[in-house]
Amino acid sequence: MISTDLLKTEASSHGIFLDELALKRFDIYAELLVDWNKKVNLTAITDPTDIVYKHFLDSIIILKYYNIPIGSSLVDVGTGAGFPGIPLLIARPDLKITLIDSTTKKLNVISDILVNLDLNADIEYGRAEDLARKPKFREKFDFATARAVTNFRDLSEFCLPFVKVGGSFIPLKGANGENELYEAEVAIDILGGLIQDIQPFELPNYGERFVFRIEKISHTPTKYPRPYAQISKKPIC
Ligand code: SAH
Repeated sequence: MISTDLLKTEASSHGIFLDELALKRFDIYAELLVDWNKKVNLTAITDPTDIVYKHFLDSIIILKYYNIPIGSSLVDVGTGAGFPGIPLLIARPDLKITLIDSTTKKLNVISDILVNLDLNADIEYGRAEDLARKPKFREKFDFATARAVTNFRDLSEFCLPFVKVGGSFIPLKGANGENELYEAEVAIDILGGLIQDIQPFELPNYGERFVFRIEKISHTPTKYPRPYAQISKKPIC
């Protein structure tokens, strides 16, 4: 369905090596995505070349910029149809990935996709701000990531509580990412984060994109994350 040669070449131009099994899995994933999308509204991106750039490369670009040690735990908050979590798992099956979403329909799709890819990840249904208060998840992850979920400030409140002190929050953002970051600076500080790195990148027909690394340098105060009604009414600022 997709050109695995294109994916392989583009990934390697970013220093990311994909073996034959990974390429095969990406191809199956693309097919399942397009198939499932006819029944469940998952993504507007269904053209094979767009899938390669806007879903797969956009997700794994994180591996170009940041060293994710073998066996690290990573939570993908608001994973939707699996982005960026599943491409990261395909590229790096050693990672312990948890995929969170508040829509059961999408998680059912994810679970079918993982079975077909013969890959394992933890799938957790719920809102990030509720799950992050549970001892099982709070400050338990080496990394948290998210794409296209909400603005940087609210996303920081969703994600930073999941990250261990010493770990990192590495969100993917669109062209407005830097402006959003400035609005999130105070919240990031209060939540125990420190902005360490900003990487702009470009993918064909996708405009400017950013990946950030926010290091968790101190514990998140127990009052965060707050219930969503409070987050949306009174942002941390
Ligand atoms: N990350 C995917 C999906 C983006 S759509 C991608 O880049 O394609 C946003 C997703 O976040 C939706 O599936 C929605 O159900 C989920 N979501 C939004 N707010 C959430 C929250 N507070 N907790 C968990 N999931 C959330």
